[in-house]
Formats: sequence, structure tokens, C-alpha cells
Amino acid sequence: MKPETRDYDAVVVGSGPNGLAAAILLQQNGLSVLLVEGKDTIGGGMRSAELTLPGFIHDVCSAIHPLAAASPFFQTLPLKEHGLEYIYPDIAAAHPFDNGSAASLKHSIGETAGQFGIDATTYSQLVSSVVNDWPAIASDVLGPMHYPKHPLAMARFGLKALQSLTGITRGFNTEEAKGFFAGMGAHSMQPLNKPTTAAVALVLTVAGHLGGWPLPKGGSQQIADSLASYFISLGGKIETNTYITSLDQLPSANAVLFDVSPQQLLQIAGHKFSNIYRWQLERYRYGMGVFKVDWALDGPIPFKAGECRRAGTVHIGNTLTEIAAAEQHVWQGGHPEKPFVLLTQQSLFDPSRAPEGKHTGWAYCHVPNGSTVDMTDAIEKQIERFAPGFRERILARNTINSTQMQEYNANYIGGDINGGVIDIGQLFTRPALRWSPYKTSAKGLYICSASTPPGGGVHGMCGYHAGKRALKDVFGHDFRIGTRF
Ligand SMILES: Cc1cc2nc3c(=O)[nH]c(=O)nc-3n(C[C@H](O)[C@H](O)[C@H](O)COP(=O)(O)OP(=O)(O)OC[C@H]3O[C@@H](n4cnc5c(N)ncnc54)[C@H](O)[C@@H]3O)c2cc1C
Repeated sequence: MKPETRDYDAVVVGSGPNGLAAAILLQQNGLSVLLVEGKDTIGGGMRSAELTLPGFIHDVCSAIHPLAAASPFFQTLPLKEHGLEYIYPDIAAAHPFDNGSAASLKHSIGETAGQFGIDATTYSQLVSSVVNDWPAIASDVLGPMHYPKHPLAMARFGLKALQSLTGITRGFNTEEAKGFFAGMGAHSMQPLNKPTTAAVALVLTVAGHLGGWPLPKGGSQQIADSLASYFISLGGKIETNTYITSLDQLPSANAVLFDVSPQQLLQIAGHKFSNIYRWQLERYRYGMGVFKVDWALDGPIPFKAGECRRAGTVHIGNTLTEIAAAEQHVWQGGHPEKPFVLLTQQSLFDPSRAPEGKHTGWAYCHVPNGSTVDMTDAIEKQIERFAPGFRERILARNTINSTQMQEYNANYIGGDINGGVIDIGQLFTRPALRWSPYKTSAKGLYICSASTPPGGGVHGMCGYHAGKRALKDVFGHDFRIGTRF
């Protein structure tokens, strides 16, 4: 039964993957939904644009989408019919070393393990049980903390995932296996000796074995556009260019879901919250920022190692020791001379990204939160180290520092692209310790951004779970869609 009539049943503020997921779930369940976006285009972290030269399409934020492709909610949506096509590089990620060799993440566990010599069996054992258990544990890993549906499988995963990256790699002997896992774990944006950094490494590695690390044809904007197109086909409404700083700006609705950071939520609705909830949001911690560079290139990146020339993503940082030192340095407020660099090369697999014969490059490194230091030279030196001649291919570049990242998207506080530190203290309880992390202390107000479980990345599961909560609390729905997870 619906409560009293308002302008809309629900309003969602912010059109990132989580805002779009929440809006879709609510609209699918027969509610009238308005999605409000502060910028002139929708998509949040999923936008693409000609950042350098005409004809070169760059992903402004997210580039590679193992989590979107494997998202339990997005998988139920007819996004292909709404224009979304994923391209799967046959090597998901490659990791070059100073000796000219590279380790690579391939679909086959056996092939990937095979390159690690005496560590082959250890690698297979480490990832195989997670791969086998994944169908049983995916919805628990990608959701709020609760009693798991498959406790034994979840316990097996938890025993590995709660470890630090340096802890879980103690079983390896070769620099190749250790370095490969360090590259995966560095996505956590924390020092690699912190608990749970192994979780990020395992989930990304396993995603490579299960489905691969795809990129959307035409750019990440295609994910946003296909979600929006589906939402509109259901009758949903979108309003852009409306930045919300106060609840008074919103039309009347029975539920409002915010795809914003806790900091913005406090500004918009802080006066409505209980003291304890406000206190918790004020104490919420944001993590490292990023410094990003996009290049228009005269040719492909000339990596020495063949695997790197065939990979969608390249992790640049050499050994575990080197990567761990770089991440620790950033955590302590420094700017490493040899940063860990995450690089993607979409145009190798998607010719629509650049004029014929030309290419695009996308990379970022971690920096202290709010940093304005220009890391272009450090990033390019790292790439040149494994791809001599890279700089000669640069036609144009565009850079964005941490502070500019927040100006571009208000959710990226100080350039933190994960919506807050994803450490053991904030993994399941983000943004506050509550029965439901999506529910604020004010009636009808919810938070659905990456600052809620399961955290950063394009997967929409924060929005899905927040939407589900609102459906139950406000509309008394035993929701129909997505009941299998
Ligand atoms: C450089 C970079 C690289 C990344 N790479 C990847 C990757 O390869 N793969 C991956 O899966 N993830 C990646 N991510 C992370 C991913 O983009 C984010 O985790 C994800 O977009 C978060 O989704 P969200 O819906 O919570 O918020 P966002 O996507 O940040 O969207 C929030 C939206 O809300 C709007 N908004 C905010 N405040 C207001 C307001 N007050 N009023 C109105 N509108 C508002 C914003 O303008 C924005 O459109 C990357 C991020 C960055 C920045």
C-alpha cells in the first residue's frame, strides 16, 4: 500500500551506477521515480569524452568493468537491448617486470598458474576455491553484512580475504606471483600490509577467471546511457543540471535516496539526523586520492613484454616490495618517485575510441588525499621503463589531480574514488554502524552511493540494496525484481 500522494514516490539524487541502479529498481517495482543529477550529463564515474584531441574518446573515470559485467543486479537488466556491448580482451591484465617478462591474468586458471613455475599449485589452490564458491558467495560479498546464505563457503572466502596482501602472498616463492598479486591488491588504495587488502586482490583475480575484465564498446558512458535508456523506457524521469545542496530544492516524495558522499549528505540533510548518526558521518574517513593522465597516441604503447601489448589493463610497479613501498609512502602523505600505475589501453580492442592507426592511453597513480602535485612525469617515466619509446608517441595529454577530481565529481572527496577508505573498520559498516547501512536516521532518507557496502567500483549493488531497503520500509513492498540475490 502506497503512503499519501506526493509529486513522486521516490527521488534519487545523483546518477552514478548506484543512483541509476536504485532508480531502476524502484521504477521496476511500479513507483514513480525522478533521478536528479547535478552535472549536465548523467553517469557519475561512467562518463567518456574527447579530453585530448577530436576523435579520441577517453574514459573520464572508470575504464574496465569486471564488476559491472558480473554485477548480480545489472546482469538481470536488458542492457544489451539498450545499446551496451562489452569487449573482452583475451588478457585481462598484465604485469611487466624489469627483466622484460610479464605475468598475465587469463581466463584459464591453469594457463595463469602455469607462468608462476614452482608457485603454480599454490596459485591454483588459492583462486580455485574462490572461483568454485563464487556463485554461492557473490551476493554476500557484494552486499551489506548479514548472516551468509552459505556460511561454509563464506568462511572459506573470509579466511583468505580478511588477510593482508603481504600475508596472503607469503605462500609464494617467485617475484612474478608476488608482484602479480601486489598489482591486484593495490586497487584497494591502502598499504598492502593492511587486513582485507587480500579481498580486493582475490575478487579482481577471480573476476578475471570467471568472466574477464571487459570494456564497453564506445566508452564507459555506454553503461550509463544504457542504464538511463532502460530507466526511461520504464517511465522514469531524469533531470540534469540540478545540484542539490538542500532538501528544499527537491520535489515532494515519500523516499529520497542519495548517491552522494557522507560529507555532502551532512550538508544537504544533516539537520534532520540524530546526533549519533551525524557524529558517525562526521567521523567517516576518506582515503588516498588519484592523479590521472589521458593520452592521445600516435600508435600503440610499445611495451617490451608481448603480454602487455595484448592486455586491457597493465599494472606497472614491478615487484611486491616496490609496489608495497610506493603505496605505504602515499598513505603516509608522500608522492613516490616510482608510483604504482594502473594503465588501460581501450583503443587496442575498440577502434571506435581513436582515429584509424591512432590510440588512447588512460592511467592513474595514487596520491595523498587532496594532493595537487603534478605526477605526469613520474607516471610517464614508469611507463617508459617498461615501454621504451612511449613518450615519442604522445600527441596530446590531459591531466587531472585529486582536487580537480572532486570538482569534477563531488563524490570523490579529495580525489578518493572509492567513496571512503575500504578498510576493516569501514568495509561492512560504511558509512555508519547501523542495522541497515543504507537507512539514515531520518524517515524516508537513504544513502546509496559507494560510501555504502559493498563500496567502490561500477556494479550498482549499493544502489540496489538501498533501493530494496526503501521499498520495504517506505512502500511495504515485498519487492518483485531480483529476488534471487
Ligand atoms: C579515475 C577513476 C578511475 C576508476 N576506474 C574504475 C574502473 O576502471 N572500474 C570500476 O569499476 N570503477 C572505477 N572507478 C570507480 C567508480 O567510478 C566509482 O566507484 C563509481 O562510479 C561510484 O558510483 P556511485 O554511483 O557511488 O557514484 P558516482 O559514480 O561518483 O556518481 C555520483 C553522481 O552524483 C552526482 N552528484 C553528487 N552530488 C550531487 C548533488 N549534491 N546533487 C546532484 N547530483 C550530485 C555526481 O555529479 C555524479 O554524477 C574509477 C573512478 C575514478 C575516478
